[in-house]
Amino acid sequence: MEGPVFDVLVIGGGINGAGVAADAAGRGLSVCLVEMGDLASGTSQASSKLIHGGLRYLEHYEFRLVREALAEREVMLTRAPHIVWPLRFVMPQTPGTRSRLKLRAGLFLYDHLAKRRRIPRSRAINLADDPAGEVLRPDVRHAFSYWDCWVDDSRLVVLNARLAADRGALIRTRTRVTALERGVDTWTATLDINGGRETCRARVIVNAAGPWADTIGALTRDNAPNAATKLRLVKGSHIVVPRIDGADDAFLFQNTDGRVVFVLPFEDAFTLIGTTDVPATGSLSDATCSPEEQNYLLTAANCFLASPLVATDVIWRFAGVRPLQADETETNPSALSRDYHLELSGHRHGDALLTIVGGKITTYRCLAEAVLRRLEHLFPGLAPGWTAIASLPGGDIPNADFGVYLESLARLYAWLPEPVLHGLARRHGSLTRDVIGDARRLEDMGAIFAGRLTEREVRYLAEKEWAMTPEDVLWRRTKVGLHLKASHEHGAASAAIAALLVR
Ligand SMILES: Cc1cc2nc3c(=O)[nH]c(=O)nc-3n(C[C@H](O)[C@H](O)[C@H](O)COP(=O)(O)OP(=O)(O)OC[C@H]3O[C@@H](n4cnc5c(N)ncnc54)[C@H](O)[C@@H]3O)c2cc1C
Repeated sequence: MEGPVFDVLVIGGGINGAGVAADAAGRGLSVCLVEMGDLASGTSQASSKLIHGGLRYLEHYEFRLVREALAEREVMLTRAPHIVWPLRFVMPQTPGTRSRLKLRAGLFLYDHLAKRRRIPRSRAINLADDPAGEVLRPDVRHAFSYWDCWVDDSRLVVLNARLAADRGALIRTRTRVTALERGVDTWTATLDINGGRETCRARVIVNAAGPWADTIGALTRDNAPNAATKLRLVKGSHIVVPRIDGADDAFLFQNTDGRVVFVLPFEDAFTLIGTTDVPATGSLSDATCSPEEQNYLLTAANCFLASPLVATDVIWRFAGVRPLQADETETNPSALSRDYHLELSGHRHGDALLTIVGGKITTYRCLAEAVLRRLEHLFPGLAPGWTAIASLPGGDIPNADFGVYLESLARLYAWLPEPVLHGLARRHGSLTRDVIGDARRLEDMGAIFAGRLTEREVRYLAEKEWAMTPEDVLWRRTKVGLHLKASHEHGAASAAIAALLVR
């Protein structure tokens, strides 16, 4: 058998796999990450894009998870201020929903369970003299405000993969693991790459296949203990509409079924509404938002909005499958724990297989640390955790102040149109200069798509961020696809980007 033996083979390039790969590589382990599709092409591109404590989890007494998640908001605001920022949430209180006393108590806990430095505290607001009042029906009078954070979920995955690669990890996309074989001191994984076969050897396997996690154990000849009985797959959908007038805050609406629905400012021109909790059936790779789910979301939002939405307002919809820890006693999918759980089978090199069950985008970094703690005994002398204070690529912005940083870029690149520069800065942070390179005027940046994505950036995404298809570029590395209004615009941009990617 030829080729290197990696310390760790990570299966799955979602947020958990990318986070584990980065942490492990930074501690000196040799790491290979394989992803059968594109980075973030699974659940991690389809989240509500919140770094949040999860206010509603308090009702399920998930204090450990909420405390960890609340603290992570501050960590992520410092590590990646280009893709993570604070967001004010307005939560109306109307008759028939949770009482004001209950909300006040929950928010008090939310404010105090973890240290806050940059996140303001919650408060009661008077909708008569708050801008949020204009978005809501006039009879909605009472509300509270609190703060969580926004994150670009797909970019968070890609930046973790970039961080891992910068620390020596090998990242292989469009590479599916099809078989796993135990050995004396190494595993041998069979990989399918565009129909071709290769093998990869590693001492330890980390199964970070998210909703597919239960298929990985079955790839071993002896059918290793797997996550099948530990996973419950729950689909969640979102719809996107043009930005609701004045809705620049986020809103949390309490629905009559006890669930909550988020209405979130998305990109600069849209509103994102989600989510649902329905059992996932059918193929995991193409989960879609059903007409019933769309209707549920519109109805829930319209209970509160001053200007009701209709189905024709919906310009995009997407769905993802949550890989949750199973609990046979729980019939309500919304009540299933969002915490993570790690299953380790085998305790020596060539036998150890660690499976990740559950997890949130918010807590991926803590999850990765927990994974490394579980594997520590297999790698004596392993370096300590390091990610809490390490910037993600592009995140080393002075004082983590994105606004000031953007102003400095605007002075430096006055020749770049605002939407192009803003997009570059949000996506690449301090690496914006690397993307612009030696360009001195707009023409040097090449073709421009939707007035906001340049040919030069597309080349950078291919070279440094593993983008291989127009969809990778338009819907995951960026969300420029949303700004291509008509399908012919989308088709033309896709064709032009495809041509750039093959060069
Ligand atoms: C609707 C919805 C809303 C959510 N909102 C939030 C939120 O606002 N905040 C938050 O913190 N969390 C949120 N979550 C949870 C969060 O999105 C998930 O917990 C997280 O993305 C799971 O990441 P993962 O890496 O485990 O899985 P995935 O992202 O699915 O990654 C697993 C990867 O493994 C790959 N894979 C599978 N099998 C193989 C194989 N054989 N070989 C190679 N690769 C393979 C897949 O292609 C996939 O890319 C939400 C989830 C959903 C569904």
